[in-house]
Amino acid sequence: MSIPLIELRDIRKSYGGHDTPKVEVLRGISLSIQPGEFIAIVGASGSGKSTLMNILGCLDRPTSGSYLFAGKDVAQLDGDQLAWLRREAFGFVFQGYHLIPSGSAQENVEMPAIYAGTPAAERHARAAALLTRLGLASRLGNRPHQLSGGQQQRVSIARALMNGGHIILADEPTGALDSHSGREVMALLDELASQGHVIILITHDRAVAARARRVVEIRDGLMISDSAAEQAPEAPHQSLQADELRQRLDRGATQHGAWQGELLEALQAAWRVMWINRFRTALTLLGIVIGVASVVVMLAVGEGSKRQVMAQMAAFGSNILYLNGREPTLRDPGGIVTLDDVSAIAELPQVQRVMPVIGSDMMVRHGNNNQKFYVGGNNVEFPHILNWPVVEGSFFSEADALSGAAVAVIGQKVSDKLLGPGNNALGEYLLIGNVPFQVVGVLAGKGASSGDQKSDERIVVPYSAAATRLFGSHDPEYVIIAAADSTRVADSEAAIERLMRKRHQGKDDFELTNDAALIQAEARTQNSLSLMLGAIAAISLLVGGIGVMNIMLMTVRERTREIGIRMATGARQRDIQRQFISEAVMLSMVGGVTGIVLALAIGGALALAQVAVAFALPAILGAFTCAVVTGIVFGFMPARKASRLDPVKALTSE
Ligand code: ADP
Ligand code: MG
Repeated sequence: MSIPLIELRDIRKSYGGHDTPKVEVLRGISLSIQPGEFIAIVGASGSGKSTLMNILGCLDRPTSGSYLFAGKDVAQLDGDQLAWLRREAFGFVFQGYHLIPSGSAQENVEMPAIYAGTPAAERHARAAALLTRLGLASRLGNRPHQLSGGQQQRVSIARALMNGGHIILADEPTGALDSHSGREVMALLDELASQGHVIILITHDRAVAARARRVVEIRDGLMISDSAAEQAPEAPHQSLQADELRQRLDRGATQHGAWQGELLEALQAAWRVMWINRFRTALTLLGIVIGVASVVVMLAVGEGSKRQVMAQMAAFGSNILYLNGREPTLRDPGGIVTLDDVSAIAELPQVQRVMPVIGSDMMVRHGNNNQKFYVGGNNVEFPHILNWPVVEGSFFSEADALSGAAVAVIGQKVSDKLLGPGNNALGEYLLIGNVPFQVVGVLAGKGASSGDQKSDERIVVPYSAAATRLFGSHDPEYVIIAAADSTRVADSEAAIERLMRKRHQGKDDFELTNDAALIQAEARTQNSLSLMLGAIAAISLLVGGIGVMNIMLMTVRERTREIGIRMATGARQRDIQRQFISEAVMLSMVGGVTGIVLALAIGGALALAQVAVAFALPAILGAFTCAVVTGIVFGFMPARKASRLDPVKALTSE
């Protein structure tokens, strides 16, 4: 006789122990099963049949005794090898069907093949063929709750056969069925037995047991009869021999499933579960959505307002430097900035524009009208460097500036006060300190925006004209310089200082001041504001992550039975872990994408409301990555918890 497929020697199983009373459920079962057998284990309810079946199917381990599968001691097998046995050697049929509620009939049947790494096309075809053979061709897409008990049991038989199902373990397969469906299921098992499958049928019903070719009866955890003792088992013909299964087990232990297929299935399953519980999922995701959206929006608003401040500052002269000679003191003769200095500074690459200034308040006359205004000598950079355009006529030309022409550009108030509001000032002559100047342009009003009402009471004339005709001095009072790059004003400052020191024989007889310090302070405030907003957003992301962990832990608890089913159909620990991590990642990815979409929508609304927003791709990607990492981190613990569940405990949980 060949080696038995299954050999149990004095198997005992007891529950309880330290705090609960110890119950010995199996009290020494010895049984050997040959390839090709159809055996029924019969006994009253509570006699230990299911316990025995769980041990036979490697869902549970005995307290003592030995179990040899094809001559190999099962106690020596590792988790992956046990998973291989459940996946490739056994097929389970339970009284309660144990189908995964969120999956269709087809998906339920395919599950063992996914864990076996069967290619998708082959899997789909085989599952459909099995279901068709069992009369469920029109029910492939139905979920378990849409099927009758008999149909569900046929789905679970198809699942048991998916990877071959050499040994079918059926625990009260007809227990929950009406007599007609029960007869159908029994006929099916009969047929499978005649095709060479080993059938181990567990039942409390002697009539059902009588269908088997060998009947073993147990009572109170002890075998009380075995019909094999009376009649010799039939010689198996088409059935798989034990040593062949054993060779496959040795090979299979090193076999890896196709992770792409498993990952895809894990993601699909994750999506299904999320979709079925979409309300709860949405609520939980709110944390991540709000977290991601606030990170992105706050960074965008922070960046936007920073850019706006910078732009405003630039408009009002953020890149502007003022250079003047140092005032003389008792010890120090002071210094003078000359026009030659101005020309030299203009050559610096760090400098965009340079304008010398000379000026003072003077009496100006038009007709009988006589008033005091500030008169300044400037160059053609005036409108650009002060961001102050001409609205009527034009600014004086470079040629006028070179020749020292007696032309003037006047401020709005000068025009109003000397010539009267609404009168055309262009072409009129003004007497400035008795020198006639012709008006060629009128400046835009600036008093309102600068806050200085006096700023429009100003007359601009060419520097050389002012120097020679009005003031009799050639050195500028001070020089206005526009740095080339408003973000690197300090560089320009350093370059100008170096140049001036060189030109002035190393003496620091000048002063260079700027508005940039103000802007930098402003930018710093903006930065710390964005940082604070970012921190708040990060906290909400963390809260979102905890939400994900909570839902995952809840899911693990709720789906313990599903985990048990997956394990019974051959999932390895890492498959279960991958499943739950995929769910967490999917959950947070959906949250992340929703958050980004929400952020863009909020940003759009803010932009419509004239709030400056500037979305930065790194911020968006960063927030999304954070969400996914949150999913992985907070999904890991529940996933590990799920994968460490004991198959039999998971399967029998409520
Ligand atoms: P059967 O399937 O023959 O009806 P079971 O194998 O399910 O019987 O159970 C046999 C006995 O073992 C019962 O008395 C039951 O109370 C006990 N039992 C089963 N599982 C546990 C457990 N996890 N803890 C304690 N007792 C258990
Ligand atoms: Mg039972």
